Amino acid sequence: MELQPFFFRREGSIVGLRVHPTDSSAADEVNQFALRPLKSEEFAVFTLDLCHNQIDRHFSRFPDEELETINRLVVGRPLMERHDLRGSLPRGTFFRSRLHRDDDRTSVRPDVYVLRTPDNASFILNIEGGVYRETSIGFAFQTPECSVCGRDLRTCDHVPGRTYGDVLCHSIMRNVLEVIEGSVVASGSQGTGFVAGGRSSSFPDALESARSLYHRPIELHTSRTWARE
Ligand SMILES: [Zn+2]
Repeated sequence: MELQPFFFRREGSIVGLRVHPTDSSAADEVNQFALRPLKSEEFAVFTLDLCHNQIDRHFSRFPDEELETINRLVVGRPLMERHDLRGSLPRGTFFRSRLHRDDDRTSVRPDVYVLRTPDNASFILNIEGGVYRETSIGFAFQTPECSVCGRDLRTCDHVPGRTYGDVLCHSIMRNVLEVIEGSVVASGSQGTGFVAGGRSSSFPDALESARSLYHRPIELHTSRTWARE
């Protein structure tokens, strides 16, 4: 049976903002995405700490090589405002990204630009004022690898969060296929959840339903034949 990719949202944080980009390279890089040259006062730049290589509270983590993939795929992707009742138009565009290393913690830190349009004014103000300070990344990946046995977690019986010997079972998220969007959410909200079939659920729930799907008996429909005497 072919296992479907997981669609996942994961939380991060906004680590910095630049009201006016200090480095002149920012405007040049932003203008690769603009149809006319923008002046630096026409946009705000924010730096996001989008995802990292540590085990999170959902007992999952990215290996370093997948962070490199995300670092590459996020450029050009939209920044959204979650729970925006007016629809799903992007607020900004990720225009460059780098890997940030801090001891053994590595994270993906993309820069996003947001146009200073009247419509974006309150969005920018909410970030500048520290109300919107959490982010989430929406992405698809193929394989939740079990840290205990190395198999796809949907096909083994190890439970993320439980310790086996001295190994903490967690999901190593491998084969990232796509970065869908980054979002800014109000602080304190649940930025992370699996999205399956249009519904959002927690990692244990998503794993449980994926496992039961995998272990569901296969029904064979055979055409009936009549034995002749
Ligand atoms: Zn396992």
